Amino acid sequence: MLTWSLVMTSPLQSDLLLSLLAQAIPRLESHFSALPEMDSASDLATHDAMTDVLGQVADRMADNFPYFHPMYIGQMLKAPHPVAKAAYALAQSINPNNHARDGGRASSEMEIEAVAGLARMFGLPQHLGHLTSGGTFANLEALWVAGQLHPGKRILASQQAHYTHSRITSVLQLPFASVPSDTAGRMDLTALEDELRKGGVGTVVATLGTTALGAVDPLHEILALQARYGFRIHVDAAYGGYFRLIADQLDPSASAAFLAIHHADSIVVDPHKHGLQPYGCGCILFRDPAVGRLYSHNSPYTYFTSSQLHLGEISLECSRAGAAAVALWATQRLLPLVPGGEFAQGLAASRRAALEFDRRLRTDGRFLGLSAIRPELDIVVWQVVADALAESSRRAQSIFDQAAAANLHLALVQLPVAFFWENPDNRFAKGDIVTCLRSVLMKPEHEAWLERIWDVLRDSTDKALA
Ligand SMILES: *Cc1c(COP(=O)(O)O)cnc(C)c1O
Repeated sequence: MLTWSLVMTSPLQSDLLLSLLAQAIPRLESHFSALPEMDSASDLATHDAMTDVLGQVADRMADNFPYFHPMYIGQMLKAPHPVAKAAYALAQSINPNNHARDGGRASSEMEIEAVAGLARMFGLPQHLGHLTSGGTFANLEALWVAGQLHPGKRILASQQAHYTHSRITSVLQLPFASVPSDTAGRMDLTALEDELRKGGVGTVVATLGTTALGAVDPLHEILALQARYGFRIHVDAAYGGYFRLIADQLDPSASAAFLAIHHADSIVVDPHKHGLQPYGCGCILFRDPAVGRLYSHNSPYTYFTSSQLHLGEISLECSRAGAAAVALWATQRLLPLVPGGEFAQGLAASRRAALEFDRRLRTDGRFLGLSAIRPELDIVVWQVVADALAESSRRAQSIFDQAAAANLHLALVQLPVAFFWENPDNRFAKGDIVTCLRSVLMKPEHEAWLERIWDVLRDSTDKALA
């Protein structure tokens, strides 16, 4: 039984959260009891006013999709683990800043330990790394380092890579080229080699878990090309990184890619996506700690109280939430990042749910799954069968609406028909774009809820196509 299924008794886990904090906040407070007393007068009127404002917040926050619920299967969104929520709130009562040890001694230590845990998960023998506000900034640091080591050389990423890479390279003023992806959404290796032959490539970005499809670029084969052509490899595993823990349960190509991940020069993973964390928590890891020299700068304002390494010395961002590091540390304590552990079992459950969902979609008759591949992680996309492309897109929108009305929250995605093209029922031109349905089955509970999810999707489709 998984910890986070046990705590699904109230949708927002209010009892659990309040009881955890009721014990932990006074315990933290007791450590500061030697300080001279301060007036913390909060009169009744102020208390009433705060209660009123918070009531307004509760009402405003109701205008959200229920990301925490298993019937939300739309985007990459879910509630943090209760221990992460509680640890974040607890740390916030101190409000440490992990820019430098002056700002957060304990939380800096906890960040270093939590980041080492992530590096261990990937099998990096040594590393330099830290947390960031998210995947975008973590990728920015990776490409900033890449650009300093290979000035003026091109950065390559696949067409299905996150759009942030082309934007980041424009911020960094590095030349960028996009490599076509194959019909499974993975980087096309023939196209990659064509680019490599042209020369001037400094870095290849391999995405392990694309944002749209959860496709896994064949890192193991990109490494073979690296041996011939020589370039840096940056792995963007913002979404997929944690699947390293169940690499042995993935299909062969994805499995081989994840098992090779420690050969990458840098890796990005987003604990705020699959790591059960509140936003913002991304992480950048470098395999060679010597890249730390590239961050070198002098700050007259910080770094006074310790001779140890400061996270602010190896990070482009200055102020960062110490609470994010504390929440991640607490989560990894409770759910260690080890193959076969409870956290890994949660990922395996998500993946099984995705495979079963995909299997049902393919046998329904009204949908087309990806033609080249079944889901590589836990993201499922499907096209709706229709005589015309516009009608297929319209039907997807209509199923999306009907399902939402029945409390099943899906997502829509625009994809080239090429991804579904080999299906015999597909009569559209390969390059056409079609609106498809997409689901991210990233909660372990999705496996147990699949029957119910499927029933609602089937009924919603009946209504939408009636
Ligand atoms: C989400 C994502 C990003 C961007 O990360 P943020 O945390 O949203 O800034 C980059 N790359 C991939 C593959 C992603 O899935």
